[in-house]
Amino acid sequence: MGDNDFREARAKNAEKLLDVRNLEIQFKTKNGYISAVEGLNFSVHRSELLAMVGESGCGKSVTSLAVMGLIEHPGRVRADRMELAGVDMTRSSPEEIRRLRGAQMSMIFQDPLTSLNPLFTAGHQISEQFLTHVPGCGRGEAKRRSIEMIRKTGIPRPEAVYDSYPHELSGGMRQRIMIAIAMCCNPVLLIADEPTTALDVTIQAQILHLMRELVVEYETSILFITHDLGVVAEMADRVVVMYAGQIVEEADVLTLFHKPAHPYTKGLLHSTIKVQDAGSRLEPIPGAVPSLRQLPSGCRFHPRCAYADDECRRRRPELVEVGLNHYSRCLLFPRRENVA
Ligand code: SF4
Repeated sequence: MGDNDFREARAKNAEKLLDVRNLEIQFKTKNGYISAVEGLNFSVHRSELLAMVGESGCGKSVTSLAVMGLIEHPGRVRADRMELAGVDMTRSSPEEIRRLRGAQMSMIFQDPLTSLNPLFTAGHQISEQFLTHVPGCGRGEAKRRSIEMIRKTGIPRPEAVYDSYPHELSGGMRQRIMIAIAMCCNPVLLIADEPTTALDVTIQAQILHLMRELVVEYETSILFITHDLGVVAEMADRVVVMYAGQIVEEADVLTLFHKPAHPYTKGLLHSTIKVQDAGSRLEPIPGAVPSLRQLPSGCRFHPRCAYADDECRRRRPELVEVGLNHYSRCLLFPRRENVA
C-alpha cells in the first residue's frame, strides 16, 4: 500500500474520535501544584494519524497518559471535556475508563522491555487481552487468536514465539508483540509514545510500516508522540507542536513542513537532518525547554526566540488561526510575515 492510499484511507472520515477541551495536568511539588500542561485543546479524527511533536519536557507524554487515564494521585487531571467515541471520560468512573482501556484505546511505549511482563510469555500476555476484553472468549480461542495476531505482526514461527519470554526476543520482535497486544481488541484509538526511538533505523522502518498496515486494516486512529520530524513527515496527517505545556502550532502535515508559522516549529525543522542538507550545518535551537516551576513571562518561547521583542516578553500569545485549519501561538505572525 502506497503513502497516498494510506493517507486517503485515514482521511475518508473526518469525524472527531477523540476530542479534548481545556485539558490541564498538574503535579504536586513541595511548593504546591505545578501545571505540566494547560489549556490544551485538540482532537483526533477517525482514521487519522495526529502527531504530537516537541522536545522532551514539553508535555507530550503526560498528555497521552492523561487521555489513557493513567495519571495517578497526586497528579491531577482536569478538562472541560475528554470525549472518546462519544463517551466523555471526564464523567466516567475509574472502572469505566479501565474498560475503555484495552477495548477502545490502547498504548504502546518506547521501551517494550519495560512494558512487557518478564515473568509471562508473549502469548500469555496477548491472550490476557482477549480473555479480559472479549466476552465469552475461552483459553483455546484466546490462544488461537493470539497466534494469528503474532502472525499479522510479521513475526516468523508465531507458534514458537507464543511460548517465548520477552528476554528471548529481539527489540524489534518485542515491539511487534506490544503492537499485537495493543491492536488485538481492535481499538478505535492507538496512542504510540515514541514507539521506535529505542530501535535501530531498519527495524524502526519495519515497525512504522507494520503500524501503517494495521491501522488501515483495523481503521484505527493514532495519536503519535514523537520528537522525530522524519517520522512525522512519513506518517502523519496533522501535527500538533507542543512547547512548555502548550500547543504552539497545529496544521496539516504539508502546511507544517512547507509553511511553518511559529518560530519554534521553524527551529525544529532547521535542526533536523535532511538528506539534501548533507554537508550543511544544522542549526540547533539555543537554550533548553524552561522548567515548569519557572516559566518565562509573556511568550514561553521568548528566551530562545531570535525574534523576541519587549511585547513578546510582556504579552502571552493566544493560539490563533493563521490559515485554513492552521493555528499558531505567536504575536508576530501573521502581523509580520517576514519571520523567516
Ligand atoms: Fe518569538 Fe515573540 Fe512569537 Fe514568542 S511571540 S514565538 S517570542 S516572535
